[in-house]
Amino acid sequence: MDPLELTLCESAEALRAGTLSSAALVEAYRNRAEQLNPKIHAYLNIAGEDVIRAARDADESWSAFRRGGDAPGPLTGIPVAVKDVLCVKGYPCTCGSRILENFKPPYTATAVERLQSAGALILGKTNTDEFAMGSSTENSAFGMTHNPWDAERVPGGSSGGSAASIAARMAPIALGTDTGGSIRQPAAYCGVVGLKPSYGRVSRYGLIAFGSSLDCVGVLARTVEDAAFLMEIMAGYDPMDSTSMPEKTPAYRKTLSGEPDLRGIRIGIPKEYFSAGIQPDVDRLVREAIGVLGSLGAETKEISLPNTEFALPVYYIVAPAEASANLARYDGVRFGLRREGQTLRELYDGTRGAGFGPEVKRRIMLGTYALSAGYYDAYYGQAQKVRTLIKADFENAFRSVDIIASPVTPSTAFRAGEKVDNPLAMYMEDLLTLPASLAGVPGISLPCGRDSQGLPVGLQLSGPFLGEETLLRVSWSFQKVTRWHKEAPSP
Ligand code: GLN
Repeated sequence: MDPLELTLCESAEALRAGTLSSAALVEAYRNRAEQLNPKIHAYLNIAGEDVIRAARDADESWSAFRRGGDAPGPLTGIPVAVKDVLCVKGYPCTCGSRILENFKPPYTATAVERLQSAGALILGKTNTDEFAMGSSTENSAFGMTHNPWDAERVPGGSSGGSAASIAARMAPIALGTDTGGSIRQPAAYCGVVGLKPSYGRVSRYGLIAFGSSLDCVGVLARTVEDAAFLMEIMAGYDPMDSTSMPEKTPAYRKTLSGEPDLRGIRIGIPKEYFSAGIQPDVDRLVREAIGVLGSLGAETKEISLPNTEFALPVYYIVAPAEASANLARYDGVRFGLRREGQTLRELYDGTRGAGFGPEVKRRIMLGTYALSAGYYDAYYGQAQKVRTLIKADFENAFRSVDIIASPVTPSTAFRAGEKVDNPLAMYMEDLLTLPASLAGVPGISLPCGRDSQGLPVGLQLSGPFLGEETLLRVSWSFQKVTRWHKEAPSP
């Protein structure tokens, strides 16, 4: 059995049964990651030999269990890749930025910590656009990640390293973050599953902040079941994050069994998401995927989310405004890079000038402007009001449907370099993922076909706030009767 062919759930089962050793599993992934990283550059950092030793300890725990001992945590011996914006003690956390190049956080993010407590082993830190700002990983200060389906193309972003690591079988599961689409869009471009939970479902303690009213920690996986497995362990209230939801996390995986049956499920198709500008292949494959949901018994109907067109301008006020405040802390005094100067002003200017890349500087300037006296009401205040309307669109829609289905992106993965000089074209990437982010509702990207060039296409499903259970159930049903998630690029 090739351990790289197993899904996360299958590996976990095999470890428990003793038909697979963690040492073999971790070694296979680590070798694969080392071997492909020069080409794909999914990782900024790959675990050293000590992770194999930890895997052997995990094997010990499992054999003790089989001899009648206590059951170890459900992820014992499973390797996990982590986007390099989440703090993991013992690893640098760069956020893809020069300004944090040598930053070693003294603590671990709650989301990661929960996985470790369940026995997971950290396989490495994955590449990202600088401070998660971007849609292609081309904004990483350490070089882009390449799409495993076509190395000339971008993997999407900002969680492009995590998405590529799953597609290229360099990790069985990876954590990502999504502020405006950064899990769903790279998942679509790399042909993997990407789950952005509801805002507040997963703790952000130890996630380096970008846009605090939008940031979510989620999962990139091969299957819906794998994503559900990780979410179950990771989600839930955390006293260290006052925005985390007190609601109990449902046992998501329990609902993913039996026959795929969607009778009684109402699926809304927002007409605004299928307007001109969608690549014909994407339009066709997403409509076919919705047809599959219909064939499983779901009722499908057209709906309207009338304020969709404002999502992009609203996001590009709110996110940069919050980013400009969040990034004020990188001034050379306490974290990361420091460029000495004669005066405090020189220290700040020198450090920030040298440490931040062009897109981050652009966002800081946009955000500072939008928040400045005299402009606040016209920009930030106005954007907040329109955001409320976008949120209301979803609330209205979810009165008559259970799930909203659409494309994830207007097109498939674009070529590296194609949009780097055109920020607006890059921002347009997020057209269809931003509204759910602004509304705080959960969304998932599922592989649903390949375009005429063989590039993956994603189906986006969104659910009501804290409605992950139904979202996962519908997604799982789709995967039960399709094969797109089983396809992988040849190495
Ligand atoms: N691409 C979007 C941006 O550049 C979203 C990024 C994200 O979700 N982190 O802001």
